[in-house]
Amino acid sequence: MFCPNCRAEYRVGITVCPECGVNLIEELKDEINHDETPCLVYVAANEFEADVIIAKLKSEGIFAFKRFRGSDSYNRIVLGRTILGVDIIVAESDFENAKDIIRD
Ligand SMILES: [Zn+2]
Repeated sequence: MFCPNCRAEYRVGITVCPECGVNLIEELKDEINHDETPCLVYVAANEFEADVIIAKLKSEGIFAFKRFRGSDSYNRIVLGRTILGVDIIVAESDFENAKDIIRD
């Protein structure tokens, strides 16, 4: 069970996060809320750079995900790498923060 607020994991049987007092959920949904607009915050040169940036954003509490460009989902499988750069997407409300974090 996970706390949707602080993202801590708890063992089965615990239903409320003792830290936040919110109900735990079975799985953290790694996605942007439907009422938020996904924004392109950065284009990484490759998947490795994208992973580094996403990990950095996550450590700051910002959810981000990769989006491959054009035929790159295919290139990634066939060639084992991407060619066109990898988009990094965050929620609109995190956009300014994410930009600052990436710039550092
Ligand atoms: Zn919590």
